[in-house]
Amino acid sequence: KMKVRFAPSPTGPFHIGGARSALFNWLLARREGGTFLLRIEDTDLVRSTRESEENIKAALKWLGMDWDEGIDVGGDNGPYRQTERLDIYKEVTDRLIAEGKAYYCYCTEEELEAERQAQLARGETPKYNGHCRHLTEEQRAAYEAEGRKPTVRLRVPLNETVAFDDMVRGHVSFESNGIGDFVIVKSDGIPVYNYAVVIDDHTMEVTHVIRAEEHLSNTPRQIVIYNALGWEVPTFGHISLIMGKDGKKMSKRHGATSVEQYKNLGYLPEAINNFLALMGWAPEGEQELFTTEELIKNFSMDRVAKNPAVFDIDKLNWINFNYMKKLTDEELYTLCLPSLQEAGYVSAQPDEAEKARLTMLCVCLKDHISYGAQIKEEAAMFFTDSISIDEEHRDDIKAVLAEESCPTVLAAFSDKLKAMDEVTPEQVKAAIKAIMKETKLKGKFVFMPIRVAITGQMHGPDLNYIVPLLGRDTVLARLASVDT
Ligand code: GLU
Repeated sequence: KMKVRFAPSPTGPFHIGGARSALFNWLLARREGGTFLLRIEDTDLVRSTRESEENIKAALKWLGMDWDEGIDVGGDNGPYRQTERLDIYKEVTDRLIAEGKAYYCYCTEEELEAERQAQLARGETPKYNGHCRHLTEEQRAAYEAEGRKPTVRLRVPLNETVAFDDMVRGHVSFESNGIGDFVIVKSDGIPVYNYAVVIDDHTMEVTHVIRAEEHLSNTPRQIVIYNALGWEVPTFGHISLIMGKDGKKMSKRHGATSVEQYKNLGYLPEAINNFLALMGWAPEGEQELFTTEELIKNFSMDRVAKNPAVFDIDKLNWINFNYMKKLTDEELYTLCLPSLQEAGYVSAQPDEAEKARLTMLCVCLKDHISYGAQIKEEAAMFFTDSISIDEEHRDDIKAVLAEESCPTVLAAFSDKLKAMDEVTPEQVKAAIKAIMKETKLKGKFVFMPIRVAITGQMHGPDLNYIVPLLGRDTVLARLASVDT
């Protein structure tokens, strides 16, 4: 049975790239009826924080990626936080040392650095020179007496080819001679990533390791460790880096990079998942919008591309726009509310009437925004007393207002508006229709003068909504004061 895992290091905001790795694993597990495991890799004691761990878990939950085993939910192979597994690693290390497959190294940082410089000066690629490979008990005791704290190094076999078949990159091979005996446990007793990850993936019975390409160069070291322990090597799949449209590695310069930022901007989790899946995975056919259910059904590692994935924000916006269409009015309001609050458009305790008006506002602007935070700008026209004339279209505006029928239309609309018991989009629609009938004018000769008179713009959201949103008094005042 397939078991995959997501193993984030809780060292900062949860990056969109991490979310993509998690998603590929999760989709595969759900598709194959396998297990999705969540493990926290917190051996970097300085940079790891609980806050970041919470942030990652919250983001995964928000995206709907539930895990079957691991942190918080438990399982047979815990604990699931690496700093709580130190005794497990210690046991394995003792075994490797007893079998002569690993050894204590007493070289200091300074000594190692001096050797590195010497190797570079000789034009060699730096690697550990094996100084402590064959220490006698006496030599060890002497170093201990000096107070040196040893690291543990793995004895890496020479003249071997380390090869594996990667689910994405195909056959990959490295020469073991280039690796050198590397540190598996630091002098403070904390295992390095490459070592802990192998012990965890093995003891947690992970069958497939899908992770970012940046770990590809770690994989040979990990395989050497699997071999030293006589453990079966899992199947690896290294997914490509994410790049900005400019071909550079995705970074803050390209915009928001954390899942939380996208959440706060008013993107929808399903849209994010859809977008993340398409960063690397190329579905068959032309379809680009996939519900999470459809992703589970269609996702496969053999359609994950080797070349870098491009982070195209316009595509995300297009996807999100499409998902927003599916929201109920209430959901749309909830999505946009933080942005409206930020702009100061909402009172501290909105009553039902205000909520209804704001909901109507969101519905009215839905087609003009791609994510929640964009509503702020679009809504501005409803929260100012002054009317801002679209200077760019001044001539068109003049032409509309110079139309012979314009004064009649505005007066008629004014009368009908005064007569309404309640100003609603339906009532406005009916009024405009009635004016068309009475005047025998074509639609645009009725709604263009009204639009221009009350908004100062040639284009904008649905007029039927604009009128109730601006409110009867404002609209009447603007109709009366316009220069025809
Ligand atoms: N903790 C590593 C990271 O966050 C995990 C790498 C792996 O999946 O093996 O990059």
